[in-house]
Amino acid sequence: MSCSPLSPSVLSHRLSRVKPSPTVALTARCNALKKAGKNIINFGVGEPDFDTPKAIAESGIKAIERGNTRYTAAAGILELRRAIVQKFKRDNALSYDVEQVTVGVGAKQIIFNTFCATINAGDEVIIPAPYWVSYADMVLLFGGRPVTVACTIDQNFKITPQQLEDSISPKTKWFVFNNPSNPTGIAYSRQEVALLAEVLQRHPHVHILSDDIYESIVYDKYVFTTMAQTSQEIYERTVTVNGVSKTYCMTGWRLGYAAGPIDIIKGINTLNSQSTSCPATMAQWAAVEALDGDKSAITEHNIAFTHRRNFVVAALNALEGVQCMVPNGAFYVYPCIRDLMGKKTPAGNILLSDTDFVTFLLETQGVAVLQGEAFGLSPYIRLSFATSMDTLKRGIERIARAIQTLS
Ligand code: PLP
Repeated sequence: MSCSPLSPSVLSHRLSRVKPSPTVALTARCNALKKAGKNIINFGVGEPDFDTPKAIAESGIKAIERGNTRYTAAAGILELRRAIVQKFKRDNALSYDVEQVTVGVGAKQIIFNTFCATINAGDEVIIPAPYWVSYADMVLLFGGRPVTVACTIDQNFKITPQQLEDSISPKTKWFVFNNPSNPTGIAYSRQEVALLAEVLQRHPHVHILSDDIYESIVYDKYVFTTMAQTSQEIYERTVTVNGVSKTYCMTGWRLGYAAGPIDIIKGINTLNSQSTSCPATMAQWAAVEALDGDKSAITEHNIAFTHRRNFVVAALNALEGVQCMVPNGAFYVYPCIRDLMGKKTPAGNILLSDTDFVTFLLETQGVAVLQGEAFGLSPYIRLSFATSMDTLKRGIERIARAIQTLS
């Protein structure tokens, strides 16, 4: 039996403001093409290709065997919140009480709940572009207004203090600061973070959402600084979001965490209690081991990522019409394809946008990348290099072949 389509009036007005996540949509499209027998190379994936380290996975299994299979507090088990407090102390020299810490079903849910708990209609949220796909849609969902600030390759994809100053208004509620960045992989120096903090210092009504999810995936001896470290005043209005997905290869465990002002954390806990109740209990125990345990896997993974990054950047820069910056964090590159715009495909289509180029790549070569449009800055594409060297080599060869056919 199948259902007839519902009347559009069933769906909320709120829902009409958002679109499905383009990264999730691309994965579904690739899987469908693979199922249809197509040979697809997918550079769209935003997760490490390594397995969860064994000790962490075993900690989750042991939790199940011990019978830790019931609901927990909405803010998470105390053992995990203590491990998070220690993490912030050890890695970021930040001091929090356990009451200032909460957990969620991924950092994504924490960000969602942070906006849900704080945004009123018309509130503005400053988001440097290109940005992670979900920020703007989440803001729209809660009636806020995303104020996106274009940060092109010519300024190394970084928002300048002047751009930040110019985008602040009396209605600004949040400044979203994702460092290192998805989709560009760029990471701000201590000095650059301090200069942005100086601007924020002058505007006490602005809160900062610091998305530090790629903190540990960094290269070339980069030293990470988080916004809340810059001063007591900034600390008091910053929610620092992090998670175990990327650092510990735990995307499927769905566990993120945050620390910040007690009122906002309490608001997030209320939303947890009325939605998910809590993240999966065994995932919380696995996260305790991730945060407290051995960190050698991070170094090993970063060495592998460095080789791949070096290869991908050099190979992309060797292609005509492609300009790629060297990222110092995360596992993405965001090459500019400005010089490919206006070119003609063998089928006679003119490439007018990065979306056109992405469609052309997928249809002619079976290579999946994401269009810059999804991240709020065109004409660029995003490739993830969290895949094997062999896949990277074959994929870039196909991209080169596609570009050679353009006239
Ligand atoms: N923030 C950024 C910048 C991301 O790239 C992602 C995942 O792609 C997330 C947050 C959410 O991570 P998770 O929900 O897996 O913890």
